[in-house]
Amino acid sequence: MNAAGLPADLASLIVAHDQGNAYDAVVPPIAQTSLFTFSDYDQMVSAYRGDIIRPIYTRGLNPTVRAFEEMLAKLECAEDALGFASGMAAISATVLSVVSPGDRIVAVRHVYPDAFRLFGTILKRMQIDVTYVDGRDEMAVDEALAGARLFYMESPTSWVMEAHDVGALAQLARRHGVVSVIDNSWASPVFQQPLTLGVDLVVHSASKYLGGHSDVVAGVVAGPKALIDRIRSETYPYLGGKLSPFDAWLLIRGLRTLPIRMKAHEASALDIARRLQAHPAVAQVCHPGLLNELPPGLHGTSGLFSFEFADGIDIRAFANRLKLFKLGVSWGGHESLIVPGEVVLQQKAQPNFAHAFGISARSVRLHVGLEGTEALWSDLQEAIEAAS
Ligand SMILES: *Cc1c(COP(=O)(O)O)cnc(C)c1O
Repeated sequence: MNAAGLPADLASLIVAHDQGNAYDAVVPPIAQTSLFTFSDYDQMVSAYRGDIIRPIYTRGLNPTVRAFEEMLAKLECAEDALGFASGMAAISATVLSVVSPGDRIVAVRHVYPDAFRLFGTILKRMQIDVTYVDGRDEMAVDEALAGARLFYMESPTSWVMEAHDVGALAQLARRHGVVSVIDNSWASPVFQQPLTLGVDLVVHSASKYLGGHSDVVAGVVAGPKALIDRIRSETYPYLGGKLSPFDAWLLIRGLRTLPIRMKAHEASALDIARRLQAHPAVAQVCHPGLLNELPPGLHGTSGLFSFEFADGIDIRAFANRLKLFKLGVSWGGHESLIVPGEVVLQQKAQPNFAHAFGISARSVRLHVGLEGTEALWSDLQEAIEAAS
């Protein structure tokens, strides 16, 4: 992808969506409506019969949501995409479109915590087992995939940022006849296009970089028409986690600056990761950009990574002293954020789950936002000083 901007034909999609609108608005209008009426009986019959593709009810088809889906499909080199009310709605509808009771899922270890919880609760009750493997160990993945139904990937993984050779893993899944799904929220299609690497379906929490302004919770799945149609026909309408028109409109706004935002997050975060790595108060930095080379298919790094403090640093004092970095979950917007590992480990809900994510008590997760590298580094340095 051209890192300086969106592919040229995305702009024409936005314009196409505006056809029929007399005002030639540069920003597409929102079809903020639950239902669409028919000019006459025959048109209604045609729509119900599927002879014409026309919105009937927003949970099924909404033009603003469709405009976002078409943009995202283009960004992920997919035939089709579906927008959801959250990343978890996209993940659950996607996984449930593939698996049935008795099936087994293989997942890379340290996936996003709520995906892990979905597997460990609802899917477990449906007698669907999940085998976790280190995604960097291709032999272990190959072995685990025998007889599985779905392979669930995330690269790099949440928190500890284990990065995988996504193309090689996708080929293994294909050889075993296993449907592969990847959570691509971290890299975004700017830095990783999993479908071009042979992955079957790609999901996103659009609440993160795709939205990019910390004002939307949304999700999306993209892939080949046959697999998307399977989701569209059952888990999308009946679980009902549909993306709203207003949120789709905000996402279209966000996508316009996605490539330049990603480049800015990348530059700042990599710079700060290197400075942290050289800092005596820091024991370890987990950032794929610090590997000798990025895994094949990953063409850049984003703003989220974690590091581990050496002994003797008071993490509470560090967190309280920060001014630019705010204490908060999520990521992908303008703001820089931290989550201390020791806070996550105190979660009461399913307490022993936290350890499955590879989170240690000395670690801190950072999202490096767009405030500027030097200001952010000063903020970190002063806070580390105060905590030493
Ligand atoms: C936030 C997140 C999700 C879940 O998305 P929601 O929009 O919060 O439902 C899934 N995967 C990753 C990697 C995330 O960071």
